[in-house]
Amino acid sequence: MLRKFCPKCAKETDVLFEGLCKDCYLKGAKFVEVPQNISVLVCRCGRSNEKKRWVQNASVEEMIERVVTSSIKKDKDTDVRLEYEPFEVSGKTKVPVSVVARRVVGGREIEKCAQVVFTIIPQTCDVCSRVSGGYYEAIIQIRGSKYKQNQVLELVERIVGQYKDTDKFSFITQVQDSKGGIDVYLGSSKIAGKIEQESKRIYNVASKVTHSVCGMKDGRTLNRITILLRISD
Ligand SMILES: [Zn+2]
Ligand SMILES: [Zn+2]
Repeated sequence: MLRKFCPKCAKETDVLFEGLCKDCYLKGAKFVEVPQNISVLVCRCGRSNEKKRWVQNASVEEMIERVVTSSIKKDKDTDVRLEYEPFEVSGKTKVPVSVVARRVVGGREIEKCAQVVFTIIPQTCDVCSRVSGGYYEAIIQIRGSKYKQNQVLELVERIVGQYKDTDKFSFITQVQDSKGGIDVYLGSSKIAGKIEQESKRIYNVASKVTHSVCGMKDGRTLNRITILLRISD
């Protein structure tokens, strides 16, 4: 094999990358740039705070993948994969992440690794603080025979579950036995409206909606609605 020398460091090498030995090429090539540190506020429910918004995540791993990948600057002919050890989130958690960038130079694959420390900072999100604070926008009052009440309660739970991913305030604050029936406290008045429509579609229900203004929260008036669902057999 013909002996090759790197013109920069004079080292003997089998392969040249754009005219340089691998070490010199890697030193000079800037095919991936990552920030040294990334910190993200993460709630125990899995939501993370990004650009001042709380966003839902499938998992902490998926969130790290997405946040780190979006912070990487790279050429379009460079592929990137992330590597990190398994970790547990407990309190403020630091996860060292290796960003392995790969590109093909002169028909040969070459890899370069960059490090980023990903810090998870625990913080309660807007939804969890509302849930734990007993927040509610609507009360559904279910009345009628006990059997039908339970059926409608199941419907309420099903609809709340259905909209969980699209409306973050689709949650039940509490379910209370009350005089003549069941009262369900809901985080979202919009969802309460959907429950009213759906229960009328399925059951023989007469509804009555009462609006009330209940003071101020974060500079805006807090409106609440009470929806009475009276079910006939
Ligand atoms: Zn060299
Ligand atoms: Zn949360």
